Amino acid sequence: MKVQEGIEQPSSVNPEAVHNIRVKKPVALSIQQMVDGILAGNISILSKAITLIESTLNEHQHQAQEVLKGCLPHSGRSVRVGITGVPGVGKSSFIEVLGKYLTKQNKKVAVLAIDPSSYRTKGSILGDKTRMEELSTDPNAFIRPSPSAGTLGGVAQKTWETIILCEAAGFDTIIVETVGVGQSETLVHSMVDFFLLLMLAGAGDELQGIKRGIMEMADAIVINKADGSNITKAKQARIEYQNALHLYPTPESGWVPSVAICSAHEKTGISEVWQVVEDYIAFTRNNNYFETKRTSQDMQLMHQALKDLLLTDFYQSDEIKKNIKQIEKDIRQKKLSSYKAAMSLSDLYYSILKKQ
Ligand code: GDP
Repeated sequence: MKVQEGIEQPSSVNPEAVHNIRVKKPVALSIQQMVDGILAGNISILSKAITLIESTLNEHQHQAQEVLKGCLPHSGRSVRVGITGVPGVGKSSFIEVLGKYLTKQNKKVAVLAIDPSSYRTKGSILGDKTRMEELSTDPNAFIRPSPSAGTLGGVAQKTWETIILCEAAGFDTIIVETVGVGQSETLVHSMVDFFLLLMLAGAGDELQGIKRGIMEMADAIVINKADGSNITKAKQARIEYQNALHLYPTPESGWVPSVAICSAHEKTGISEVWQVVEDYIAFTRNNNYFETKRTSQDMQLMHQALKDLLLTDFYQSDEIKKNIKQIEKDIRQKKLSSYKAAMSLSDLYYSILKKQ
């Protein structure tokens, strides 16, 4: 095919006019408008506020803290459920079905995800597939993927702050999902009321990569994929897990963890699982553990945030940066003990503070 070059045509758009067009910037909302919008359940404002929380810019962080302050008195009225399990166990399928089950009962469900892979590597275990398609279009559901930047401590703080905003926006059920492969489940456990471990029948615990510690944290173990030829195996596994859980000491809550089976595909066992959550909430409200745990979680978060703030300030100091290299060298050459080194760095830090 022969392509004619053709003659250059004059532009049909007046360049002067283009020059004069002002791109309309989105109107920035005031703190009060944001708080009011969130309290009115405005999802687009809620999303904007969460983006502020996730931002690393100081200005955004300052605004986010102000929005949080306005929302905090309206938070807390929800059930916070943590869900963990290895990749492939069916977390997103289960949450989709559970979420739909709850929204049908007029509940408002927020799903937040903590994905340990997203801040360690660029890839993501939770985010790389289309997840919860049906739930994501449900007007009574809100799904927010993991904040991907920062340290695990930073992600914890941002997730907790996101929980507060979602509660202020009227979400009465908060589901925090994480992959059961790292430390993130301990972190999720520290911010939820109820911790659910999703498992499979027939694959040994070792194979499923579930550490004993995680089983000990669970308020319920739910065996998913109890369908087809798998039902018998699932029932058997239920008995085995029930027996295994009896060997653990009774947790502080006084609640004996239960084992349930379900199928996210066939939508069976879902109401039974939710009944367990409701029983647990009633039980722990009754013995005051619910409130005690929430208060101690708030305290723990405060102490963690304080440690993070102090450490960040410490490591950002130019003077410290200059000295730390030499001190590390001295430790390597056995000229200085690690403890002495830490002491001299902390002395240096306090002397810098005094001079300020
Ligand atoms: P996640 O990685 O833990 O979020 O797991 P997914 O929800 O993505 O599910 C992993 C695979 O298991 C997918 O192929 C699902 O279709 C399948 N799956 C999930 N739930 C069930 C179930 O209840 N029964 C069966 N047979 N398969 C399921």
